[in-house]
Amino acid sequence: MHTDSKIIWEKCLLYIQGQLSEQIYKTWFSPIVAKHFKDGVLTIQVPSQFFYEWLEEHHLPLLKQAVLQEIGPHGKLEYAIVIDKGNKKQKPLMVNLPTYPGPVPRDSGEKTASSNAIFQLNPNYLFDNLIEGSCNQLAKSAAQAVAKNPGGTAFNPLMLYGGVGLGKTHISQAVGNEVRTTFPDKKIAYIASEKFTTQFIEALRNNHVQSFTEQYLTVDVLILDDIQFLSGKERTQEIFFHIFNHLHQLKKQIVITGDCAPRNLKGLQERLLSRFKWGLTADLQRPDFETRVAIIHSKVAADGINLSSELINYVATHVDTNVRELEGVLISLIAHASLARRDINIELAQQVLKHIVQQNPTLETTIEVLQQQVAAHYNISVDDLKGKSRKKEMVVARQAAMHLIKKYTTHSLKSIGAYFGGRDHTTVIHAIQVVEELLHTDPQYAHLYELIEQKIKSSITNSY
Ligand code: ADP
Ligand code: MG
Repeated sequence: MHTDSKIIWEKCLLYIQGQLSEQIYKTWFSPIVAKHFKDGVLTIQVPSQFFYEWLEEHHLPLLKQAVLQEIGPHGKLEYAIVIDKGNKKQKPLMVNLPTYPGPVPRDSGEKTASSNAIFQLNPNYLFDNLIEGSCNQLAKSAAQAVAKNPGGTAFNPLMLYGGVGLGKTHISQAVGNEVRTTFPDKKIAYIASEKFTTQFIEALRNNHVQSFTEQYLTVDVLILDDIQFLSGKERTQEIFFHIFNHLHQLKKQIVITGDCAPRNLKGLQERLLSRFKWGLTADLQRPDFETRVAIIHSKVAADGINLSSELINYVATHVDTNVRELEGVLISLIAHASLARRDINIELAQQVLKHIVQQNPTLETTIEVLQQQVAAHYNISVDDLKGKSRKKEMVVARQAAMHLIKKYTTHSLKSIGAYFGGRDHTTVIHAIQVVEELLHTDPQYAHLYELIEQKIKSSITNSY
């Protein structure tokens, strides 16, 4: 039934969302619509063939895991792909997902990674796809040593630190994934500090502190990501200290990440910080040019996309902050190219990067004027247009406004998002996709759009 599929898919999304960055989640999962659910087969509709291929390439393990959790070992996923948008009466084409390589037993023991939400790892974070450079050499080799012999090296705890997007989560999860492959019996817990805190508070509220703590006391590898979030949270630190000591005494492996060196971590108890001296502390630096080039090479190769070395050098030269940003630019490039159905070339890269690097302040009035015009046309206030309301008429107006702004200004998707109450650029991509689709399939909508567009055009020419 219709509602069934929605509910199941929403649960799947909840799981998937926890495993991905918001940007990736929004780009690739928000546009998916649950279609139906029958005989264990969940059908989801994706906007294009490209979309389908991307999901298969990049997110298959996650999708499988989500389906396994929500439907069970016999659950299957099927895609409905909108292949041809031009044809009004088109039926979406169904493509079957490749069959799962043998179902994973669900409740056969507490050791399966799927049986407990806190023990989840993102299967895409591996040592294999982590490019090595001088920026991360020590961290990577220490992490690999730890993964080969958890609890048995001098690197306990292993503390990894560095700024955002430099690979802390990737490397710490790679430890977990590798241990899981090499020692299937070992119990691994990966937990972000924020989530650890929330769980703890919930346990306090529900009188479950005992069982909350126990689940961590029985692991072989504990990975605590972003420890800086425990800053100032005295009671959470207290409980973590307890878990830490217990595991360390049992020679269980502990991996911790943070955004700066232990001595600079503010708001953490000294006795906890001093424990880090027992093991190894390794820092992650910004990747140098050669490493950035290698990272781009590996990302695009994984996507089956061909970029000239000129283009790769161009991106590597201009994006020198961190790997997440680099990935964001690549995703942007791919999304732009697929939206506009054009090739990825230097010109497009320049365009995409221009928006990221600098914004044109003289256009600010234009965006606001456009917002006013669209709001007036739909008879709603600009605040509502920019606001959070999900009422149909607001959403329709908002999406049209985003589309028009993209068309009539040079603002980046990110910047447009900022003008709509700080929405993410992927929301803007989605809006543009929706409008494009409607323009092709709904003549009435197209007519209305044209009316607003005419108004806008005439006001632009009048003002010059
Ligand atoms: P952090 O946790 O330090 O903020 P992440 O581990 O989330 O950073 O890394 C950000 C993104 O960059 C992830 O998608 C990760 O896979 C990727 N990444 C980071 N370092 C590398 C690397 N050396 N090679 C390939 N990908 C990397
Ligand atoms: Mg992280």
